[in-house]
Parts: sequence; C-alpha cells; structure tokens
Amino acid sequence: MNIHEYQAKEILRQHGIPVPPGEIARTPEEAERLAREYGGMTVVKAQVHAGGRGKAGGVKLAADPAAARDAAANILGMEIKGLTVDRVLVTPAVEIRSEAYVGIVLDRASQRPVFMVSAEGGVDIEEVAVTNPDAITRFAVDPRYGLLPHQSMGLAFALYDDIELARQASRIISALYDAYVAAGATLAEVNPMIVDDTGVVLAIDAKMNIDDNALFRMPEIEAMRDTEAEDPAEKKAREAGLSYIQLDGDVGCCVNGAGLAMATMDLVKYYGGSPANFLDIGGSSNPDKVVAALEIITADSNVKAILFNIFGGITRCDDVANGIVEATKRIDIALPITIRLTGTNEREAIEILQANGFTAMTDMDEVVKRGVALAAGAAGGGA
Ligand code: GDP
Ligand code: MN
Repeated sequence: MNIHEYQAKEILRQHGIPVPPGEIARTPEEAERLAREYGGMTVVKAQVHAGGRGKAGGVKLAADPAAARDAAANILGMEIKGLTVDRVLVTPAVEIRSEAYVGIVLDRASQRPVFMVSAEGGVDIEEVAVTNPDAITRFAVDPRYGLLPHQSMGLAFALYDDIELARQASRIISALYDAYVAAGATLAEVNPMIVDDTGVVLAIDAKMNIDDNALFRMPEIEAMRDTEAEDPAEKKAREAGLSYIQLDGDVGCCVNGAGLAMATMDLVKYYGGSPANFLDIGGSSNPDKVVAALEIITADSNVKAILFNIFGGITRCDDVANGIVEATKRIDIALPITIRLTGTNEREAIEILQANGFTAMTDMDEVVKRGVALAAGAAGGGA
C-alpha cells in the first residue's frame, strides 16, 4: 500500500526523526490560513502517490499567505503522472544548505533490507543512479541484528565529513530503519534529507510503501489508505477478497490459489500467450467472488479471452460454476470463456455449465492452449 508524504512524515516523527511541521489543505483558502499560522515562507506540496512532483510543478515555495493560496490553487486539480491532486501539504520552508538521499528498500535477491544513501540527493537522484552509480553507497542489513550503531554511523559518514552532521544523520538513518521495520514497509525513503542554515539535519520529503500483508497488525496505518488514489480494479478486488494484479497481456485468468495462478500464467506464456492478470479467487468459493472476478477481468479492455482454471479442494467446483452462470446473467460478457474445473463437485459443476451452454474441460494443458488460441483469434479480428 502506498501512503502520502504527510502520512509517511507522521510515521517518521513518531520514530523521532526531525521533520518540519505540516498540515493538509484541500482548498486554496485552507492553504492560505495554514501559511498565515506558520508565518514566513512556506512550501505547498502536491500529495499524490508519485515521485518527481517538484519537476512536475507540484512543489512550490510561497513567500506569504496569498502566494500559498495561489500555489494551492495552481496545484490542486493538477495531474501528476496520471494522478489528480486533491490535497496539498503546507509546511514551513527551510533554508537548504545541502540535499542528501537516504532510502531503504526490501531487496528480494539478498532477502534483506538494503540501504542506499547518497550525498547527491534531491530531485536528480534517478539520474545520479544512472550516470554516477558510485555516488550511491549501498548496505544490506542483516535483519537478525538490525542496523548496528557503527553501521548507521558508517552510512552517515558517506554523506557528511563533519562529525556533528554525521551524528545527526546517523540518528536519522537508524530511526528510519526502525520506522521501516515497525511499519512493515517495503520501502522508506527520505529525499532530500537536508542540512539547514543552522546546521540541523532534517527530513523534508518522505515516501513509504507498506507491505499489504503487514497491514493487519497496524490498523492505524491501514486507516491511512487513500481509496481515491487506488487503482479501481485493485480496489474492487481487495473489497471482494480477491488477490488481483493487473498485467499487460490479453488472456484474463481466473484461478483459485496463488500457486495455481502462477502456474497458469507460466503455462499461458509457455503456449505463446500473455496473461492479462494474476487473479486468485481464494480458498472459499462464494459465487459472488466469481462474479466480482469476472467484472474485474472484463473491465480490462486488453482482455481478449477469459480462462478459468479451478482445482477444487475447499473451493467447490459447483460454486464456481454457479458464479460463472450468475456473472453472465448480471454482466454482458462478449468475450470467449474457456473453463477447466477438476476436484470437489466437478461432476455437478460440469452439469451446471452444460445446462447453461458452456463446455468445461478437466485438463489444464488443453484449457490453457485453448485460452491462448481464443485470445489470438480475437486479437486477429477473426470471426
Ligand atoms: P519530489 O520532487 O516529489 O521529490 O518533492 P520534494 O519534497 O523532494 O521537493 C522537491 C525539491 O523542492 C527538493 O529537492 C527541494 O530542492 C525543494 N524544496 C522542498 N521543500 C523545500 C523547502 O522547504 N525549502 C526549499 N528551499 N526548497 C524546498
Ligand atoms: Mn523528494
């Protein structure tokens, strides 16, 4: 789950990281009021689940409350990377002496959280990563011991020669690791971490991604979910209790069980096709879940054929069959559907489907071949 900058900053604050104060405004007038409260220069910042806001014109310095109002009027409603800005963060501006980058990301290859830090932080960090990768220091944390003090100090010295600055940075780096672990994050990033004109090190931007599977233990973070910023299909899937990940192929897959869903996608690829999605309808087979699954799959305009692959265990094949029949009554599905069901109540399922004009197979290889062929035929515009 993605959270906004102001939400990530709240988590960092709770872990003792120095972050300037800030509040959210949804109208230019609110931004003006906040700017008046803070006094002096403020920064008005678009809150969207995307980086590069500064370059897109979504971060503006405002000299006085009227300027903050104008900046908010300008930013609210703006589109950044396809996302519409519906709120801005208003925060007192700081004088920036230097900008550094500090990030932790879960690295699946080493199976560890990996720190990346660079003295060349700021809006061009992606470019630094490409043109000057040596300017980025990497360090994989052994999660059994966590980040040890000498390790955070080592990372801090990669950023600052000055011992006072390095001590402050080391505390921030170590607190960032704690926040990352406590929040169940897969990414925590401060860019830029700055030194202000009084020699204080501060986090003035923050980004965190939270592992969906960790949310159950943190209702306070789950409550940060911005449903307006979510992908509509993924939102619908989550609400229906389905695991759904959209891909860019044309074979819509509806499968029970994550392992079988992965195997199905592999087989689609093997037979020369391309899956439009990963979709796991889960263990318990409620016909409503199948209806929701078909609504989600058919809403994806890339899908040319729908492929069911159900291995009935706890999931009962007849429930899935009823779901398919129900869905075709409720929604107008113009796409070819190919179905494989085997296992619990397979015979009943096949009868239900046949009575409603569907044919069902029991062989996985065959159904995938057929699904791929149907998608290819439909893509070619054949009759
Ligand atoms: P991003 O572009 O989405 O990463 O947004 P940031 O919050 O990182 O802001 C982009 C850039 O705006 C920063 O790298 C700073 O250079 C600048 N900026 C942000 N806040 C302030 C501030 O309080 N004072 C000054 N002088 N510049 C700021
Ligand atoms: Mn930034």
